[in-house]
Amino acid sequence: MNYQNTLEFAQKMDLQDPIAAIRNEFTIPKMADGTQEIYLCGNSLGLQPKLAAEYVRRELEQWAQLGVKGHFSGDFPWMPYHEFLAEGFADIVGAKTDEVVSMNTLTANLHFMMVSFYRPTQTRHKILIEEHAFPSDHYAVESQVKFHGFDPDESMLLIKPREGEEIIRNEDILELIEKEGDSIALVMLPGVQYYTGQVFDMQSITRLAHEKGCNVGFDLAHAAGNIPMQLHDWNVDFACWCTYKYLNSGPGSVAGCFVHQNHHHDENLPRFAGWWGHDKMSRFKMENKFKPMKSAEAWQLSNPPVLSLAAIRGSLDTIKKAGGIKSLREKALKLSGYMRFLLETELADDIDILTPSDATSSGSQLSLALKLRPGDSAERGKQIFDAIEEKGVTGDWRYPNVIRVAPVPQYNSFEDVYQFVQILSAAVKNN
Ligand SMILES: *Cc1c(COP(=O)(O)O)cnc(C)c1O
Repeated sequence: MNYQNTLEFAQKMDLQDPIAAIRNEFTIPKMADGTQEIYLCGNSLGLQPKLAAEYVRRELEQWAQLGVKGHFSGDFPWMPYHEFLAEGFADIVGAKTDEVVSMNTLTANLHFMMVSFYRPTQTRHKILIEEHAFPSDHYAVESQVKFHGFDPDESMLLIKPREGEEIIRNEDILELIEKEGDSIALVMLPGVQYYTGQVFDMQSITRLAHEKGCNVGFDLAHAAGNIPMQLHDWNVDFACWCTYKYLNSGPGSVAGCFVHQNHHHDENLPRFAGWWGHDKMSRFKMENKFKPMKSAEAWQLSNPPVLSLAAIRGSLDTIKKAGGIKSLREKALKLSGYMRFLLETELADDIDILTPSDATSSGSQLSLALKLRPGDSAERGKQIFDAIEEKGVTGDWRYPNVIRVAPVPQYNSFEDVYQFVQILSAAVKNN
C-alpha cells in the first residue's frame, strides 16, 4: 500500500472505505467544545454501539411490561437469551455454535475452565504462562496451582522474551514445550498480548502441546473482536474472553467462553456445576440429578444477567452489519498499517514501536515506547501523554514510557489516525 502523509490522503481512504458508515452506529465521546474525541482506547473499553443502548432499553421495557413472563415472551425471551449470542461469538472466534457460551466474567471463566482442564498429577503438574501475563491471569493460575497442593515456584513455568527483546519468539515457546512438555498439564497463553499487542501463533502452539499430551487454553481478552481465529479447527481445548474491549459491550459486561466439541461428551471431566448447565429440557423439574448439556453451555452456573447480554447482542449485530470479523480485519490492517507508516515518517527518532510489524503477529493495537533522551525528566513521557489527551486523544498510558493506541476498524477513521499522529508529533516536539 502506498500511504501518504497528508490529510487529503486520509480523507480519500475514508471515502473508499466500504465500512466507513459503521462509525455512525456508535456514540463517540465529545470534548468540552463539542468536537469528537480521537478515541484510540478500544483495547481497554470499546465505545457504545447505538444498538446496544437500544437493545438494553428494549429489555428494560419488557421487564416493566411483562414481569416474569418476559422469560418466555417476545422475540427475544430471557430464558434462552444467551443462545442469541452464539452465532456472533462463533464467527468471531472460529467455533461451532455449540462450542461458545456467554457467562460470568473473564477471570471467573479462567478458573472454571482450569477446574476442568488443569488436572495436575505428580509428574505432570506445570502450567506454562508468560512471565509478564496480565496480573489477573497470573493470580488465577497461581491460586489454582496452590489449590491443588503444588508449589507455584515449581509448577508455574514462565516464558519471557529474550534478553533485550520485547516479543516472545514463537520458536522459544515451541522449544520450551518440546523440552518440558511431559511435565506440563496446561499451556495457557494469550491470543494477543495486552502490553505489546503481539499475536501468538495459537495453531502451532496447540498442535505441539497436544503432541506432548498437554491441554491448551487461550485468554482472548485482546484477541476477540480484534483478529480472526479458528479455534475449532486448531483444536484448542478452551478459551475465555471479556466483551468490553474490542467487543464494545460495556464496562464489566458478561464474558465469553469456548469449549471444544472434543470435550462435550466426556463424563469424567470434573466441573463446578450449576443449574444453568443442566439439560434444558428437564431443568425445571428441579430434581437433584445433574445432567450436563452436551455443549459449552454445560459449564454455565446461573441464569445470566440479560441486560448485559442485550448490550452484547447489540454489539454482535453491529459487527454483523460491518460484514463480520473478516471484514473488520481487512480494514484494521490498513488502519494500523497507516498509523505505522505515519509514525515512522514523523517520529522515527522519538518512538520505538514495540508491536511486531508483520501482519500475522499484530492486531489493531500499537504499543509506542517513547525514547527518553539522556537528561530527560522521568515525567517527560507522561507530560507528552497529558498533552495529547488535552487535544482530544484518548489512549492508554503505562509507566515509564509506553502509550498504547488501538485504531479500531468499527469506529476509527483514517482521518482519526492522521490527526493523532499530527497531535503526537507536536507534543513530542514541544515537551
Ligand atoms: C482485560 C483483561 C483481564 C480482565 O479480567 P476481568 O476478569 O474481565 O476483570 C484479564 N486478563 C487479560 C489478559 C486482560 O486483558
